Amino acid sequence: MMIIMRTEATQSQIATVVAHVEEQGLRAHISRGAERTVIGAIGDGRPINRDPYILMAGVDRVVPISRSYKLASREFCPEDSTFPLDGLEVNTGEVLLIAGPCSVESRSQILESAQAVREAGAHALRGGAFKPRTSPYSFQGLGEEGLEMLAEARELTGLPIVTEVMAPEQVSLIVKYADVLQIGARNMQNYALLHAVGESGHPVLLKRGMSATIDDLLMAAEYILSHGNDRVMLCERGIRTFETATRNTTDINAIPVLKSLTHLPVILDPSHGTGHWEYVNAIARAGIAAGADGLIVEVHPNPEEALSDGGQSLRPERFAELVTQVKAIAEAMGRKLIPQPGPKEMH
Ligand code: PEP
Ligand code: MN
Repeated sequence: MMIIMRTEATQSQIATVVAHVEEQGLRAHISRGAERTVIGAIGDGRPINRDPYILMAGVDRVVPISRSYKLASREFCPEDSTFPLDGLEVNTGEVLLIAGPCSVESRSQILESAQAVREAGAHALRGGAFKPRTSPYSFQGLGEEGLEMLAEARELTGLPIVTEVMAPEQVSLIVKYADVLQIGARNMQNYALLHAVGESGHPVLLKRGMSATIDDLLMAAEYILSHGNDRVMLCERGIRTFETATRNTTDINAIPVLKSLTHLPVILDPSHGTGHWEYVNAIARAGIAAGADGLIVEVHPNPEEALSDGGQSLRPERFAELVTQVKAIAEAMGRKLIPQPGPKEMH
């Protein structure tokens, strides 16, 4: 349930309510809005007695949360929750662009990719150092060496790094290099991993499992939020359907549905959603028109030589076209791209 405090509630009244919530064996999650504080009291599903809270000083009203996910729900947080990322502000209505190769393959490949995507207008660099491959014989990533290359690319371009974490024991290593921890589709319901990234407090990009419902995705996000980490971006990356003309089927519906059900930012991955470079720009445009808060796009300087996902990777020139097109679509919808930090603000 949600305990909605009065606008004039004092810190000590808030603290008293939180203490009472915890005494009841419930978890208290405090959300401080511009006007008022809301305290989420989360139990294990058993009914919670609302009466004592209604009478407490500073409390305006107590409202049950009807959804199975609580902290991720719009009921808990009616406004989009803004998401600070390395000096950028995500989920303000402005569009975030994350781009880069599927995998980090070599120092020159990642440095070249980083410069190219920055020049085209990207705000963050993607690149996997630990790769979840369907076949054990496929390239598995460069591991820590790849993370060091990503750090060098960030140094060179100022772009924050988005990279995948596949196991709980990798979290402490990857947080040293990454600005955003990506949880891949295959790991969306790896609860030990969700727990670990939740505890890390590090920003997370949570990809939808290929056979997961929207509800499953929101429950996975709830795991991370319930461990005290509120910086979670959701990512629609295409789902399995009977269609074989494309690698996956981009669930464009999921974008407005998620925007209605949750306050968390919603990112679209048109690269995995389609699996073919020639369809990526069209679906990127559709995603922004449908209200996505950002895109994550695979870009490679030489897609024909890529060690993973070359067929769905854009050449830098094609990505530059995507940025121009997406900017026009955003503007048609009364939105903008997030401003890129200038070279002086780069670190
Ligand atoms: C990726 O981003 O390269 C990736 C492996 O994505 P997904 O987990 O969505 O398949
Ligand atoms: Mn990939």
